[in-house]
Amino acid sequence: MSAPDRLAEILHRMRRAEKAVGRAEGATTLVAVSKTFGVDDIRPVIAAGQRIFGENRVQEAKAKWPELRAETAGIELHLIGPLQSNKAREAVELFDVIHTVDREKIAAALAEEMARLGKRPRLLVQVNTGLEDQKAGIDPRQAVGFVERCRSVHGLAIEGLMCIPPVGEEPGPHFALLAKLGREAGTPMLSMGMSSDFETAIGLGATHVRVGSAIFGGRSYPA
Ligand SMILES: *Cc1c(COP(=O)(O)O)cnc(C)c1O
Repeated sequence: MSAPDRLAEILHRMRRAEKAVGRAEGATTLVAVSKTFGVDDIRPVIAAGQRIFGENRVQEAKAKWPELRAETAGIELHLIGPLQSNKAREAVELFDVIHTVDREKIAAALAEEMARLGKRPRLLVQVNTGLEDQKAGIDPRQAVGFVERCRSVHGLAIEGLMCIPPVGEEPGPHFALLAKLGREAGTPMLSMGMSSDFETAIGLGATHVRVGSAIFGGRSYPA
């Protein structure tokens, strides 16, 4: 199967998963994760109609997307990987949505660059639902307070929450926790679910699923 065929299949499965739990058709948005794939792999997916893409590294996105954006109108780019404060300016310049705000220093750096550049990407807070040492994201017990401080201290409107469940664990409880925190924080967007578990995430309220390998194929190097 080609990437456009796999894209169509994923969109079909998303619509089916929405229907299965009584959600409106189109209630979930597909972020096609193109990390590690080059412009020649991405172009056919754009040609098939996909406009929303996710990248996990600022430098990689900078190398690929200005060219692709110049070719096609309406591309929306999402940063789904960890952000360092020294990359905040480039991230604000490049991305329409940033899913990985997870600490004060990043919130402050983003606020500063957003003011400087007069551009306001939509922001989500990443929550480390599995409390994994090696994973980015804020402790779930601090997530609601952090969303509030982003607003009150940094003037940032946080629109949603994002999580990546631990490998090898049942993802459902992590998605349910994120949805509960989202209700408490009053943030409507929920970025959760990847190639192997996006239907579970849709069942638990995802508004954005981030699907890479099920569309583009296996990645030849880790990212
Ligand atoms: C790579 C990545 C994805 C996509 O993963 P697949 O299993 O290839 O669908 C989703 N979210 C994040 C944060 C990623 O880094």
